[in-house]
Amino acid sequence: MIRFAPGDLVAVLTTQPLDRALDYRAPEGGCGTGDFVEVPLGPRKVLGVVWGEGIGGYDLSKVRTINRVLDVVPMRDEMRQFLNRAAEYTLTPMPAMLRLATRSPGLGSDVSMRKVYARGSEEPDRITDARRRVLDALAEYGDLSFTLSELSEMAGVGSSVVKGLVKQGAVIERDTPRDAPYPRLDPDLPGKTLAGDQAGAADMLIKAVASGTYGTTMLRGVTGSGKTEVYLEAVAECLRQGRQALVLLPEIALTSEFLSRVEARFGAKPAEWHHGVTQTERRRCWRMVGEGNSSLIVGARSALFLPFSDLGLVVVDEEHDTSYKQEDGVLYSARDMAVLRASICKAQVVLASATPSLETWANVEAGKYSALTLTSRFGDRAMPQMRAIDMRGEDLPGGRWVSPSLQGQIADRLERGEQSLLFLNRRGYAPVTICRACGEMIACDHCDARMVEHRFLKRLVCHQCGETKPMPEVCPSCKVEGKLAAVGPGVERMAEEAAALFPDARVEVLSSDMYQSARALKARIEAIAAGDADIVVGTQLVAKGHNFPLLTLVGVIDADLGLQGSDLRAAERTFQLMRQVAGRAGRAERPGEAWLQTFQPEHHVIKAILSGDEDGFWAAEAAERKAAGVPPYGRMAGIVLSSPDIQAVFDLGNHLARIDGPLRRIGAVLYGPAPAPIARIRGRHRLRMLVKAEKGAPLQSAVSDWLAQVRIKGDIRLSVDIDPQSFY
Ligand code: ADP
Ligand code: ZN
Repeated sequence: MIRFAPGDLVAVLTTQPLDRALDYRAPEGGCGTGDFVEVPLGPRKVLGVVWGEGIGGYDLSKVRTINRVLDVVPMRDEMRQFLNRAAEYTLTPMPAMLRLATRSPGLGSDVSMRKVYARGSEEPDRITDARRRVLDALAEYGDLSFTLSELSEMAGVGSSVVKGLVKQGAVIERDTPRDAPYPRLDPDLPGKTLAGDQAGAADMLIKAVASGTYGTTMLRGVTGSGKTEVYLEAVAECLRQGRQALVLLPEIALTSEFLSRVEARFGAKPAEWHHGVTQTERRRCWRMVGEGNSSLIVGARSALFLPFSDLGLVVVDEEHDTSYKQEDGVLYSARDMAVLRASICKAQVVLASATPSLETWANVEAGKYSALTLTSRFGDRAMPQMRAIDMRGEDLPGGRWVSPSLQGQIADRLERGEQSLLFLNRRGYAPVTICRACGEMIACDHCDARMVEHRFLKRLVCHQCGETKPMPEVCPSCKVEGKLAAVGPGVERMAEEAAALFPDARVEVLSSDMYQSARALKARIEAIAAGDADIVVGTQLVAKGHNFPLLTLVGVIDADLGLQGSDLRAAERTFQLMRQVAGRAGRAERPGEAWLQTFQPEHHVIKAILSGDEDGFWAAEAAERKAAGVPPYGRMAGIVLSSPDIQAVFDLGNHLARIDGPLRRIGAVLYGPAPAPIARIRGRHRLRMLVKAEKGAPLQSAVSDWLAQVRIKGDIRLSVDIDPQSFY
């Protein structure tokens, strides 16, 4: 760290979209690199971090002075290094990286004391609807307290309602000092006795963590093989070393079930960082992590950008999950960034999965990562039996999707009081609405996409831009009435079919759009796991993170769905998803079965799924990708140009294609420009280009040299996606 005396010239990186750090003078009392500061910018005050010495070289009399240094722990050198390297890797401007690292509410405000509100001992004299909502919101969170704005927002009432309850003693108002540290976790409480290959795997991880060096380990084992128990032992060792551990989970898997397991193991709950936590909790988490007053953080991908004081271990659970790739704003893979961050701060990474990504396999093969495998399900629970239903031989009327064979299986489960899951990765009622008079399919006005009927919401929804409209009575094109028809199934329609087939069964849809909040959805998942439904119809969100002990049958409505399209990972994703969904069945004492409805049972991916021949599948998949020179055996960058002006994007795209010298110099090949598969979103026309290079090629520097040749003008946006996962 460098110290600067008052008046010294320093460079400050701000969160504003500028292409470089700006010079300021150090304030009274001086400042140092890494200090979080507030600086004047035009008429505004903005947040920044002291990045180094000033650059100078212009009229120094115009340089302004830093307003103040904020009362938070300065950004550590290793964090600045991480942001720099992550920016270089993803070709992201530094201000955008800094925004990821400063996502704490109220960073700039003085927070030594604040008022919070909690349930008081009195009852209100008179209960109104609004008051009831406030008390319900408080009851839901037990003994937690909230700021005035949080509480009124949660309850959907004005702040005067809360104030009214305070007067009556039904709610109490307190001043609390800053943010409270998290309770200490005790690594020496007894864990479960590890069985079989669990013990050996845990030992290896414990040794790795104790070494205090960087390393990455793939921890592989089918759902239920006890991976979580194993990596919790690595967490325990990290806590013993006095370092911090981070467990990343796909957002939806962040359930109270996981938090309870941590509490059972270490005697207290960890800090949480994800969409579901309140602003107050977020701020507390950010500050306590920085001050070293939180030793275990459980979070979604953005937790990687918390200001850890001494990070010793990162676990990426379900490492193959596509939600680890952020697909808007800064396009980064949390799995890869976890490895980068850990290598800078000498931490260990554990990549846990039942079906690791091919990227991870390739890194193991290349000797960059170690590998640990758990071979059996804990307690000898067998993996579910997997079977195919050949749909070509099933007698099924049009507009129906549950085959007679699958119906028979469901009936068996109903008789035995067990649960069935019907899996279909399509939200809504029907993906297409067609006019039987003129053939028109209802499309979004702003996107090149069809509107999806959501009967539960009573609306048509565009899954690209979120635009909704009521279901029309007459065809928007030919104006004929009563001819609009739903085509194809979504989960809501499947639920309708299931209810018609089994009128006495309790049928329930689990889909993210059917719930007001993530919290409500998770509560519902827990109730279902406890037995509150007979037939569950779900999208991929049921594939993750929760145990359903009574579930013994998984019926996959359309196993072929993911195999269509040209995505290079179509086979990998289908394999992972099918294995993962199947893993939901038979986690308790009763064995499970998974039935896959397919029109192509001889397809090699379907066969691999059924036989469970994982090694064979990955070997074939690797060979195919090697031959094609695609990731992980080649490198890619996806470029999307978009603008409301179609001519402008084509002009820029064609121009870029002509000046591809910097790409050719490293042997890379440019494909496109071509209209993107979804050629218009939110009224913006979209062009795609794809850069392909050999594995060792310096892709990022070539792409940045190439793009530096043009200036993006007007309303054109250009986004670069290094290692793209999606190609829409
Ligand atoms: P995974 O993370 O691989 O899906 P889990 O760690 O969640 O597997 O283990 C599956 C179930 O088996 C959990 O309920 C877990 O508590 C239990 N379990 C795993 N290992 C043990 C053990 N050694 N002793 C007791 N229970 C265990
Ligand atoms: Zn749209």
